[in-house]
Amino acid sequence: MTMAKRRRVMAGNWKMYKTIAETRSCLELFLPLVAEAKDCDIVIAPPFTAIASAVELCAGSNVAVGAQNVSWGKDGALTGEVSAGMLAEAGCKYVIVGHSERRHFFHETDDMVARKTLAALGAGLTPIVCMGEMPEDREGGLTEEVLRRQFLGGPGSLTGEEFSRILMAYEPIWAIGTGRVATPEIAAAAHRFIRSCAAEQFGMEHALRLRILYGGSVKPDNIKGLMAQEELDGVLVGGASLDATSFASIVNYTS
Ligand code: PEP
Repeated sequence: MTMAKRRRVMAGNWKMYKTIAETRSCLELFLPLVAEAKDCDIVIAPPFTAIASAVELCAGSNVAVGAQNVSWGKDGALTGEVSAGMLAEAGCKYVIVGHSERRHFFHETDDMVARKTLAALGAGLTPIVCMGEMPEDREGGLTEEVLRRQFLGGPGSLTGEEFSRILMAYEPIWAIGTGRVATPEIAAAAHRFIRSCAAEQFGMEHALRLRILYGGSVKPDNIKGLMAQEELDGVLVGGASLDATSFASIVNYTS
């Protein structure tokens, strides 16, 4: 498949870490460290409670703020949920959808992922739609079957126009928070497969434009090898994004 030039996305998922005060001190350190990074999109996704402060601190910088989850509903009796419109109003530009921790601990299905993706798009947010296989899927040779199912049940149900506005993240569950990073070749093969699913569903032009991030134990010492793969259009970083210096060296890996 011929590669189109795609702008990289370097995204940090802070999960349920950092208070408002910690968010402030981390960003005060991080923003100047990445101020010269002009050739990629940089995103941080703090917990809901720190979004407003993060937006305020990132105003006028090259770092955008995302959320880690969103409701499929516009409003209503959905206790504990936050709508896409509320996130957009708070200043979010992105939202992570279908992270494996949400699929696992909160029983999110492909159908919920599809509905949340649509809700995010409806509010003008860019969804980062995550998918990835369990260790036993990979060991049993089921990786492609699982990725195809997650693709068709989630982003595959969008229209071509909607699909052109999403980002995807390949996050093998065996690599998340484990320190066991996928080899660049394994990650690239999975990305190629996801892109081929996109080509089947939406056509080659859409597939070649799709940006797919890799996530799973990305660290300053493995970023270069991963990003050497043309198929990887950026990274979604958990643990290593919590430390300003380490996330900055991931963002600035070329310099
Ligand atoms: C993640 O939470 O999306 C993730 C990839 O985590 P980690 O980088 O810690 O493996």
